Amino acid sequence: MAEKIKMKTPLVEMDGDEMTRILWKWIKEILLEPYVDLNCEYYDLGLKHRNETNDKVTFDSAEATKKYGVAVKCATITPNAARMPEYNLKEMWKSPNGTIRAILDGTVFRTPIIVKGISPYIPTWTKPITIARHAYGDVYKNTEMRVDKDSKAELVVTDKDGNESRELIYDFSDSDGIIQGIHNKDESIAGFARACLNYGLDLKQDVWFATKDTISKKYDHRFKDIFQEIYDNEYKERYEAAGIEYFYTLIDDAVARVIRSNGGYIWACKNYDGDVMSDMISTAYGSLAMMTSVLVSPDGIYEYEAAHGTVQRHYYKYLKGEETSTNSVATIFAWSGALRKRGELDDTPNLVDFANKLEQATIQTIEDGVMTGDLYLLSSLENKKKVDSETFLKEIGKRLDILVNE
Ligand code: NAP
Ligand code: MG
Repeated sequence: MAEKIKMKTPLVEMDGDEMTRILWKWIKEILLEPYVDLNCEYYDLGLKHRNETNDKVTFDSAEATKKYGVAVKCATITPNAARMPEYNLKEMWKSPNGTIRAILDGTVFRTPIIVKGISPYIPTWTKPITIARHAYGDVYKNTEMRVDKDSKAELVVTDKDGNESRELIYDFSDSDGIIQGIHNKDESIAGFARACLNYGLDLKQDVWFATKDTISKKYDHRFKDIFQEIYDNEYKERYEAAGIEYFYTLIDDAVARVIRSNGGYIWACKNYDGDVMSDMISTAYGSLAMMTSVLVSPDGIYEYEAAHGTVQRHYYKYLKGEETSTNSVATIFAWSGALRKRGELDDTPNLVDFANKLEQATIQTIEDGVMTGDLYLLSSLENKKKVDSETFLKEIGKRLDILVNE
């Protein structure tokens, strides 16, 4: 057996909860530790430990990610009322993903993992579509009012000297109604634009962006202008050199083009578009368990994870000693993504090569017909076989062993 691969810089490891915490341990034991001398700075984001540390561990893990540049995260419980007695919580701690995203000021990119035998509902989508959602402002930070008939609604802005500018929204002389105030910040839009354009360079893929600027001549138009200015001033040359493009169109035209496309690009979406379209895209590609997610900050910090949650229902079966068939693919790809990025930043090609082989072995296992229950239901392969959670990882391990020792 070859010598274990060394890692120059630590990778931030964020452990999590329930079934994904079990898979996490097995992935390390079966697929990583035999080949890589893991150099990880470990943070236990399991709910028990978050509660013990008053959630300080979540903040510490985000700070460590800023320091080292790359993290891999297991799915974690976002507490709700039911979790309070279950974990004897001192407080209903906030979502770790929300906390980490706020500290890193990042954009989340979600990409489906494509395998033979599981065809997307849109047959022309032979390559993945990566979707990026601008997770700030618009209708998610709105102010709304119901308005009585015979009222007049206006938009009022007061500048630093106390001068007011006013615009009539609507004169409700004919009916009761509703109004809504939303905002966004140039700074946040610019951060989003840079995160998307950087990620395009990373993946060597085109970046698409769309708004309704023909109708929203100031609000949406500002998004369009900021993207275009940043592209022209900071990215154009690098995009041309890489043979990729930044493409802007109207949102209606974009959705029509997405359906007709073969995939293979990054689709940058405004907040609401991203919320809605990411659910459509992940469903269309087959399974949430085959969707990876990476948080990228404008200054190039990366946090990799699976898009799904902790798979609570399977965990309760596991606790009762029953067999589970939980899909670990997205979590494996979180590790491979993080190890590849670590390898690229540290200039350690053998780590990059290992990450590629880990993904290859995972895909090969499913394409050989060995899969977990969720994929078994979707796969069109004739020789398919459903296996339990641990067997699936061992089957990947067998194939990985061959690739690594080739
Ligand atoms: P979930 O964990 O994504 O699971 C929902 C259902 O989807 C499962 O019951 C299972 O369906 C299926 N599924 C999801 N991932 C799967 C996998 N890897 N393999 C096989 N089937 C899979 O969502 P949830 O049950 O709504 O949430 C559970 C906990 O996760 C919650 O506490 C929530 O706060 C947390 N969560 C965390 C994150 C994150 O950390 N990023 C994201 C979302 C949710 P069947 O039961 O039909 O087999
Ligand atoms: Mg949604």
